[in-house]
Amino acid sequence: MSKKRIGVRRTKKRIYLDHAAATPLDSVIAGEIQKREKNTYGNPSALHKEGLLARELIEQSRALLADGLGISPKEVIFTSGATESNVLAICGVVDTALKQKVTRDNKPHVIVSAIEHASILETCRKLVEENKIEITYVPVLSNGIVDLKVLKDSLKKETVLVSIQYVNNEIGVIQPLKEIAKLIRHHKKSMDSKVFPYFHTDAVQAVNYCDVHVSRLGVDLMTINSGKIYGPKGIGALVIRRGNTVVPQQTGGGQEFGIRSGTENTMGIFGFSSAFKKAQQLREKESTRLRMLRDWYVGELRKHFPNIRFNGDLNARVPNNINITLPGHESEELVLRLDARGIAVSAKSACDSTSGEVSHVIRALYPDADMQSSEGSLRISMGRNTTREELKKSLQALVEASKIMLDTHV
Ligand code: PLP
Repeated sequence: MSKKRIGVRRTKKRIYLDHAAATPLDSVIAGEIQKREKNTYGNPSALHKEGLLARELIEQSRALLADGLGISPKEVIFTSGATESNVLAICGVVDTALKQKVTRDNKPHVIVSAIEHASILETCRKLVEENKIEITYVPVLSNGIVDLKVLKDSLKKETVLVSIQYVNNEIGVIQPLKEIAKLIRHHKKSMDSKVFPYFHTDAVQAVNYCDVHVSRLGVDLMTINSGKIYGPKGIGALVIRRGNTVVPQQTGGGQEFGIRSGTENTMGIFGFSSAFKKAQQLREKESTRLRMLRDWYVGELRKHFPNIRFNGDLNARVPNNINITLPGHESEELVLRLDARGIAVSAKSACDSTSGEVSHVIRALYPDADMQSSEGSLRISMGRNTTREELKKSLQALVEASKIMLDTHV
């Protein structure tokens, strides 16, 4: 369905409901970045004053992030974003296991959930293709939560890594990380292993709404990024708890404690840590506000679309996410019709929104269903500026778009 056929209208004020894909840069942080850029342009590895000023800002920012995460600054490795952090975590742990020959003649075994982000799934697919690892994809129950029994039964002596996301980017479901950490601890004890398997979580979608205190969660590695928390894009971090070794995937000047070479993005790091601090300050208040809006919106959707399906658990999910299926409506067409009415939502994760296929996340929820593209999903993800008035307008637009689609497709 092309935009031409739908006829894009020029609208006055757009309504942005795609915060799971990207958040706008916080205007106060944008101003601070601009102000500081003037005297922190030096290379942070240089010995002169300009270099030292940049280094100082990076280390202050690292300490701020570490403090919020409940870890030591040396455990924060800055990267270019969540994709790089995820690739570093998976390939870095697998390379460590191969180097140390921890599985002897057997291949290292990796466990991931079936609904991970493409940066995890595609990295694992490549490692399998290269014959480097054996993989288990743990299914999810129909509410989107990982099947803990399958996970527990999948752990074996060759398992070197378990990577389970904190919050899913499409359906917003929160995974029980503490319980998973406990299963892994028991397994380690029974194997008499102090180190493997490592537990990694992709916490990109969790920072605005969940507790990300690393020790409380019991994870060894954690991915976070800035572009989903109202900070600048193109900057992220991988948390590596002390005592865990991750083989660098990017070689060069040895920055970031030798784990991630490349000149640091000073302004990105500063903006990221400021955004993280603000997200923590606003977490509870925003969660309460959005939960009320979300629950009201869910009720309204039910009234207008009696056969609507809500994808993913309605309680164990972040408060800004609604994911729906309107039977008989192709989700891409809905997205474009809403866009033409000034409303931005998404059909699935922005990273694979062009394929026209039903998302792997929705398929994983209903493995026995024969899904057509008309069974696709629509993700509505609210943010700091979302108001009830905006949601009312988006609902009206959805009702209008649905009516046209049902009328034209009979
Ligand atoms: N992981 C999750 C859960 C995401 O939602 C995203 C982006 O949508 C990524 C990883 C990739 O993030 P980045 O684009 O910063 O590499």
